[in-house]
Amino acid sequence: MYQNLLFDWSGTLVNDLPPTLFATNAVLEENGALAMELSEFRDRFRLPYPEFYEEVLPGVPIASLEDTFRSAFHQSPEQVTVLPHAREMMEWCAGQKIRCIVLSSMDASIFAKQAKELKMNHFFEEIYAGVIDKRDRIGDILTRHDLDPSRTAFVGDMVHDIDTAHHGGIASVAVTTGYDPQVRLEKAEPTHLFHDLTAFREWLETQPTRA
Ligand SMILES: [Mg+2]
Repeated sequence: MYQNLLFDWSGTLVNDLPPTLFATNAVLEENGALAMELSEFRDRFRLPYPEFYEEVLPGVPIASLEDTFRSAFHQSPEQVTVLPHAREMMEWCAGQKIRCIVLSSMDASIFAKQAKELKMNHFFEEIYAGVIDKRDRIGDILTRHDLDPSRTAFVGDMVHDIDTAHHGGIASVAVTTGYDPQVRLEKAEPTHLFHDLTAFREWLETQPTRA
């Protein structure tokens, strides 16, 4: 049974796809590229996101893209919402005394605003936001919080999250509620794959508590 869970944010606990697409298209159009439909965006977007931008807008400095992205994100007509099952999952973890930490690539200022507005902050022991490459931080986080790798899993919706878990020597829990489609997640060989966080919680409930 996992005693510690690291959570990705976008696509795992919240649905930010509409404002993310809106902001990405603002970045593309400002730099002379064509806006993307949702299907193209989901097909092409990947983490670490500088790799995606280098592919779609080669040579444009990432810092200038981030500025445009941030301001456009806040102007999006569609807002970020907590995904179905997510709040229930976090409340269940709190009841089980499972330690929860966020590890997200999302811009730290955008993250702080969302977590406050959605009243999600209190579920987490620590929040690591604005992490461009999660593989670079996972080892440090395990050490800093004294997390036993055999009792720790990283829950995420993208291949990069699974790669990060592999890099840290911990289990990976892929959920199909977010950006990467199931077929792509499966190729990255996650330890577990669930269609949502309730399915993950129900599996956890079948596991011996302290084994
Ligand atoms: Mg995500």
